Amino acid sequence: MEVLRNGRWNRLGGSYAKRFEETWARMLGARHCLAVANGTSALIASLNALGVGPGDEVLVPPYTFVATINAVLIQHALPVFVDTDLETFQMDAGKIEAAITPRTRCILPVHMAGSAADMDRILAVARKHKLPVIEDACQAHLGEWRGRKLSTLGDLGCFSFQASKNLNSGEGGAILTNSDELVEICNSFHNNGRGKSGMGFSYVRNGANLRITEFQAALLLEQLTRLEEQSRSREDNAAYLTSQLREIPGISPARLYDGCTRSAWHLYMFRYDKTRFAGMPRERFLKAMAAEGIPCSGGYSPLNKEPLLQATLQSRAFQRVFPAREIADYQARNTCPVNDRLCQEAVWLTQTMLLGARQDMDQIAQAIRKIQTHAGLLSA
Ligand SMILES: *Cc1c(COP(=O)(O)O)cnc(C)c1O
Repeated sequence: MEVLRNGRWNRLGGSYAKRFEETWARMLGARHCLAVANGTSALIASLNALGVGPGDEVLVPPYTFVATINAVLIQHALPVFVDTDLETFQMDAGKIEAAITPRTRCILPVHMAGSAADMDRILAVARKHKLPVIEDACQAHLGEWRGRKLSTLGDLGCFSFQASKNLNSGEGGAILTNSDELVEICNSFHNNGRGKSGMGFSYVRNGANLRITEFQAALLLEQLTRLEEQSRSREDNAAYLTSQLREIPGISPARLYDGCTRSAWHLYMFRYDKTRFAGMPRERFLKAMAAEGIPCSGGYSPLNKEPLLQATLQSRAFQRVFPAREIADYQARNTCPVNDRLCQEAVWLTQTMLLGARQDMDQIAQAIRKIQTHAGLLSA
């Protein structure tokens, strides 16, 4: 209401965006935070700041939201998929090095479900090959790797505050970095290429308008007051749920790496082994769960097989940038068999379910046990 009444709805005249940036940077232990319109914008601005452009390759996981690869494709760069680690659902850091080519310009790991990708190995490969790292932390608010907040380990880290996320302003995003130079480029790029003052009609580069509004920032400042408490509820419930689900044959909760000292639990993910449920297909299992009052989903389908990828590769712009031979070579390399399997076995619960009471977690485990007991009948 204060923003509404003071009439300064745009950040250039207001103070809320600035206050949110200072608060979020302090909470995460980063030198700079730039709030932006949404997570996709954060990724696009970050790739721009690193100069990723036509003809470049960016290493990405195939198990992520489409925005991760859309941001790469929009630069007319190729997302090169590194297969998934079946147990953790994260990018398999052991397979990054084999995917590097002379065109590789950046590594873009995702902290899937708010749990950390294997940052020790990712940063080691990045250092060895002198590649910058952008962390897609869009699901990872307050998540940690060895006590350090996710988004602050690479060169740049990106957040989303879209309505489904653990920190929600309807739409919103942020870029975290310790680099004075990179934040300056991101700031300019997200403000139509304006110079340091951020005002007026003089420009230092090509840019876009990816600015956050004062309304979004005011919501975020308020939401921040309960983020820590909600994160603790999710952690407690997730730990309890894991202790329950581990006992059920055929249910394998996603494992956290030892270095992941805190997960944001944006999703609770497990693998479903139908052979322990009388061969009942996953789709049937999901329906049975819904009938028990536990809505869950099968999650992502393989991004490296998305028709949108093929369509983009065949677009005029891409054909002009990449010789046919390059595209053919890319297609030949584009296989992620582990991820294909994961996409068939995964089951997700949303973060909001982890804000419930302990009895709610018991209900989830009871539903799965009940379905397992009657799996023979259900799959008949
Ligand atoms: C939500 C999300 C994004 C995109 O964020 P928007 O705010 O919706 O643009 C990017 N990457 C991942 C992994 C996400 O979950």
